[in-house]
Amino acid sequence: MNTKPEVTLRKALHRLGFRYVIGDKRFPGTPDLVFPKYKAAVFVHGCFGHGHECRQGRAPSSNVDYWVPKIAANRARDARKEQALRKRGWRVFTIWECELKPVSLQATVACLARNLDSN
Ligand SMILES: [Zn+2]
Repeated sequence: MNTKPEVTLRKALHRLGFRYVIGDKRFPGTPDLVFPKYKAAVFVHGCFGHGHECRQGRAPSSNVDYWVPKIAANRARDARKEQALRKRGWRVFTIWECELKPVSLQATVACLARNLDSN
């Protein structure tokens, strides 16, 4: 909820004038950020725990019996949450931890800002 990638994203969006609700349980899956004005929800995912297809997200090499099913369950839950929101007419964006590294942060935020505004 207050992980470093989330805080980084929130600060960047806030600076651009976006206003949001954090972790509002009234929405399916309690998205990390909700933008009521844009009817949009944002999830910020850790690459490893949610199985992102990037270097940080590659399959674990130790504790495989623990991590493989756990990551699969996280991914299934993510998909269910997203579907539940979309069914209610919400747009859903997923931002990955690796997209919030200093080198990619600006591009990621600019892209998300455009998408939010495109409604
Ligand atoms: Zn990643």
